[in-house]
Amino acid sequence: MKLTTGLAAALLVSAALAPSLAEAAACSAACDWGYGPENGPPSWSELCCPVCDGRNQSPIDIRTEDVVPGDLGSLTLTYRESHLEFSNTGHGLRVTYELEDGENYLEFGGQRYPFVDFHFHSLSEHTIDGRSAPLEIHFVHRRTSFDLAVIAVLVEEGEHKPAFNPLWNSLPADQSLEPRTVIFNPRKLLPNKLAYYSYRGSLTTPDCAEVVSWFVLKQAMNMSTEQIEAFREIFSANYRPTQSLNGRVVRSGG
Ligand SMILES: [Zn+2]
Repeated sequence: MKLTTGLAAALLVSAALAPSLAEAAACSAACDWGYGPENGPPSWSELCCPVCDGRNQSPIDIRTEDVVPGDLGSLTLTYRESHLEFSNTGHGLRVTYELEDGENYLEFGGQRYPFVDFHFHSLSEHTIDGRSAPLEIHFVHRRTSFDLAVIAVLVEEGEHKPAFNPLWNSLPADQSLEPRTVIFNPRKLLPNKLAYYSYRGSLTTPDCAEVVSWFVLKQAMNMSTEQIEAFREIFSANYRPTQSLNGRVVRSGG
């Protein structure tokens, strides 16, 4: 059956605006995505998942003059010193608990979000008033597949930060290396104050699912030039550019 042009266009528009959950599940995070000229962010929707062209994508530029002050409540972290495993995923440095560990979690809005992993991007993915930071850390918490809470911490160039040493002393130079382990409390990589900018968005890598409550911390961490360069020697430009806000509101809290 031949669709009329109008109907075909309407279907295309509705598919672009509201990718179904089935579609999101069908698209694959295992596709050959990356950050290069052939497989970089502009190609993700075609290469992997139409959802990557959705209207609630991340990261975004946070325009501080447009932020709405809110009373969203504070973030409470329960992170304990744990056995962590870190590896080069080919897309970045990812740190996970060696064992599933429900004892580390974020509490927000009366809900408990178990801690899944943290990982690094360079440059930062979120920008503040159009400005990038050299690095950004994402602390990922997942209550269900459709309800994730990610805390983003920008890392600025400054003093040497020994807290990163357990990871930085043996950064895995390539993907073929076995995961490394370390005993570590990830709380050391977050600033003392957890005041944040918050909005609803997506994962910043395929499948780009729009299931994330983002908390971009106002206070940044510091790292020395040498520490930033050590990371960039291995992981260069593993960030997605900012996406359109499309009417979403960014609130402050914490
Ligand atoms: Zn990330």
